[in-house]
Amino acid sequence: MALAGCNAGQWMKCNGSVQMQTLFPALPGEQSESAREGIASHEVTQKMLESFKDATEQTLTMVDVIGTTSSNGVLITDEIAQAATDATTAVITAQPLGGLFDKMHIEQRIDSSFINPEMNYIKPDCYIWDDVNGILDIWDFKFGRRVVEVFENWQLILDAICLREHLDLTGFDDQHIRVRMRIFQPFASHIDGVNRVWECMLSDLRPFANALIDGARVSMTDDALCIPGEQCTYCTGRRGCESLSRSNYNFMDYNGHAIPHELKGLNLSSEYNLLKHYENLIKSRLSGIEEQVLHDIRNGEIVHGLGVTQGYGRQRWRKDVDQEEVIMMGEMMGVDLRKPRELTTPKKCLSLGVDESVIDAYSETPKTNLRVVASDETKARNVFR
Ligand code: SF4
Repeated sequence: MALAGCNAGQWMKCNGSVQMQTLFPALPGEQSESAREGIASHEVTQKMLESFKDATEQTLTMVDVIGTTSSNGVLITDEIAQAATDATTAVITAQPLGGLFDKMHIEQRIDSSFINPEMNYIKPDCYIWDDVNGILDIWDFKFGRRVVEVFENWQLILDAICLREHLDLTGFDDQHIRVRMRIFQPFASHIDGVNRVWECMLSDLRPFANALIDGARVSMTDDALCIPGEQCTYCTGRRGCESLSRSNYNFMDYNGHAIPHELKGLNLSSEYNLLKHYENLIKSRLSGIEEQVLHDIRNGEIVHGLGVTQGYGRQRWRKDVDQEEVIMMGEMMGVDLRKPRELTTPKKCLSLGVDESVIDAYSETPKTNLRVVASDETKARNVFR
């Protein structure tokens, strides 16, 4: 069993997931299209940042990457190129004037074996160590649509703790160094925006280091417990996890015995939180079971009462199609196939260098429906930290 630093958020919440993922690795074809696009987005972002770091190289722009293919075979679309450009812009604009490109490290392997011998290294997406001002910036790019919180994010904490060792910072130094842990997530809607940061003194992370060492140790033992939670969604072990399965069945029993009465105040919020919790667990288990069913049927096994059918989305132009060619064909038939000319989004204008005050003067952020959100003590802790 090996311990992956990028899964710290999973094994810190469920120690048993390391063993379960070893027993139930991803099935062939389980990697979704969005996961493959996420890998491609990381690769493009890495190339763009590298081009800024090396002053002798020409900086890569969207135009240079659109239409190319990533190493995992994904065609780089406008959307992927835009996400990579936005991530690159976010890193660059967070630096003081003049930039700290020579101090920028992209996807560098950092030793993490002092946390656990089974975890050889971690690979932060990007970090910048500004030793003059005592600021350590760490970036994690997330290209999925599911929100990842930055506050007390185990993966970023692990990055920061390993970098403290890597940079040879002492117990005195870390009390004077600010660490800015950042998540850039262009496709997920979050009240704090796509570019989120959790900032504290590096020494504030000492208790977390102890917890990580202990969590990693327990995860590698036979006593590791499986504790269902939101992390089940990305655990390949979910299709064979008894704990997840039982917690779902308990929930179904609980539903059967519920006594209807009008809830108020604390009872209402408890019920809401409980249902949301189990909603996530059921979705996780169901997606794991679906993967297993698809896999078995594809391999010719009979799964009683279930079959598969090909789903179809909305018809769209193929990604490799020359759009100008189609437009020309339309013109030959007397039809204008172009979209009406329209302004790009305020966010894109910002990344293209238009001044924020200009964008603010001409744009607005409409209010949408009210949503119920979790309001727990973590927000208060974040404010006071
Ligand atoms: S499915 Fe959930 S409870 Fe089961 S091992 Fe994975 S993370 Fe843990």
